[in-house]
Amino acid sequence: MHTHQAGKVSVRSYSFVSNYIKSKVNPLKNFAYVCPAQTSGKMRIAVFPGSFDPFTIGHESIVNRALSLFDKIIIGIGTNNSKRFFIPIEDRVEMIRVLYAHVNEVEVLSYTDLTTEFCKRMNAKFMLRGLRTSADFEYEKSIAQVNQVMLPDVETVFMLTLPEHASINSSVVREVLQFGGDVSKFIPKGLPMEKYLLGRNKL
Ligand code: ADP
Repeated sequence: MHTHQAGKVSVRSYSFVSNYIKSKVNPLKNFAYVCPAQTSGKMRIAVFPGSFDPFTIGHESIVNRALSLFDKIIIGIGTNNSKRFFIPIEDRVEMIRVLYAHVNEVEVLSYTDLTTEFCKRMNAKFMLRGLRTSADFEYEKSIAQVNQVMLPDVETVFMLTLPEHASINSSVVREVLQFGGDVSKFIPKGLPMEKYLLGRNKL
């Protein structure tokens, strides 16, 4: 009991001293100072939009590296009617959710409208994209500039792929899958791909 009380006193006096120091360091902040990123309205939220058909180690690496930049990353799986998808959207959502089940900072959602509208709904101020080649850069640049006009307060942030992921893309992985090949080296460990491919007809 005595120890418990002593503990309480020392925690209180520690927080008093630290708040006192903070108030001296920055007199504009009062004793209720909190880190801006921790307040809900100021969270750095990024949307990582894509088809992820399927999600590869290239995508995974971008998300994992970007976790140090943002408080929350929302993997947004867009449905584009003009594209024919290999893995149904619900399965892609589920698979990626399983992969990030233990990472609170990552959410996985699908959307059917414009990516800019999705960002607005998510209250995201950043859009995350990965770059592999100069062709990626040219393509991404025009999309980012159009998005910038449509939604000026959302910044597109590009991350360069790791050299070992530069040639990995979903369409090559799909091609291998269609012929029943082993794609385990290209998809994240922990992505339950097999489960979703079982019972599917190969093309
Ligand atoms: P989209 O249909 O929008 O191109 P993708 O699922 O192919 O969707 O890609 C989503 C994002 O991930 C894009 O920014 C793309 O450039 C990036 N990306 C894809 N593969 C890789 C990789 N191997 N390394 C880094 N970024 C990648």
